[in-house]
Amino acid sequence: MAAVTFEGATRTFPQSDRPAVDALDLGIGDGEFMVVVGPSGCGKSTSLRMLAGLEPVSSGRVLIDGVDVTGHRPRDRDVAMVFQGYALYPSMTAGENMAFALRNLGVGADEIRTRVAEAARILQLEELLDRKPAKLSGGQRQRVAMGRAIVRDPKVFCMDEPLSNLDAKLRVSTRAEIAALQKRLGTTTVYVTHDQTEAMTMGDRVVVLRDGRLQQIGTPAELYERPVNTFVAGFIGSPSINLLDRVPVRDGRAVVAGSLRIALPAAGAGLASVTVGVRPEGVDVAGSDPGAGDRLTARVLRVERTGAELFALVEPLGLTDGVGHRGDHLVVRLDKRLGVHEGMELTLRVHLDEALVFDPEGIAVR
Ligand code: ATP
Repeated sequence: MAAVTFEGATRTFPQSDRPAVDALDLGIGDGEFMVVVGPSGCGKSTSLRMLAGLEPVSSGRVLIDGVDVTGHRPRDRDVAMVFQGYALYPSMTAGENMAFALRNLGVGADEIRTRVAEAARILQLEELLDRKPAKLSGGQRQRVAMGRAIVRDPKVFCMDEPLSNLDAKLRVSTRAEIAALQKRLGTTTVYVTHDQTEAMTMGDRVVVLRDGRLQQIGTPAELYERPVNTFVAGFIGSPSINLLDRVPVRDGRAVVAGSLRIALPAAGAGLASVTVGVRPEGVDVAGSDPGAGDRLTARVLRVERTGAELFALVEPLGLTDGVGHRGDHLVVRLDKRLGVHEGMELTLRVHLDEALVFDPEGIAVR
């Protein structure tokens, strides 16, 4: 068992008036892959470093296996860290890099050989054990760094942006490898990234931080489908969700345009206005029928084709007075076979059941 618990864990750096991590309460299950995500400076690395013992905890506690490790030295926590720069020793071979920590821990030579061989097999590094880091590719170095953590068979893996030095293609394949490896080993893992795609594809659950505060914790699907606020809604999903501000509420409905009305749950019916969130994939091009309060006309300003997909930047027409959209225009993903082109006018169908509604403070209305 290696559950991890943060209990009100706070880190305030000296000479700082605001905590970098503010009263973090977080429970991570035994064997769980937990991703910590958020924009630069939100406190991801500091949270991870408090768990690894590399950063003191100003107040609150960190527990591993129910044991309060807040005052324990890093080496007494049985946590292995994988950093973004890999931090391999350049003068040692890949195999020596993997063996180094074990030797320091006083593990016997035969045991070290067995564990390094096993990790090398898992990571397909067998042919490369005698090479020094300078003669390895970025992806291979990353695997050696993983191997160094694996050989220790720790209670917890702490990974801080381990893929950020890899090119885009290698990142995609390596993230799948890491996720599969973690499942095979069953080691509790806390993985920090600023990349929401990594978070969504790798995590059993994902924690979103902002300015040192936990915003939401949930499965990738929960964060995507039921974000608690506009920050989480905007952070998860690519391209970002479209947010329409100051949408007036009439008779329990958010009136985006004359022909687009969204029925609100009871909690939203008394509000004067709401913010409506529509994901780029939450619309398609409508037929000529009048629809059921789900139509929005728009002019296409620009078309972007990524090969597999087509995104259009559109200017909505006929919005209700008062409605403003944060990004000026909406980004929508459309069927690439429809021959959408710049300047054309479209009738879009908004999938009402997928539209999100937030109060004027940006809190989800449910
Ligand atoms: P990034 O994605 O850019 O690595 P992060 O989310 O990991 O960011 P942290 O590195 O945890 O963020 O930093 C959180 C906050 O604490 C930031 O405002 C940062 O400037 C501040 N901070 C981090 N380390 C120190 C330090 N040693 N001394 C003072 N302030 C620090």
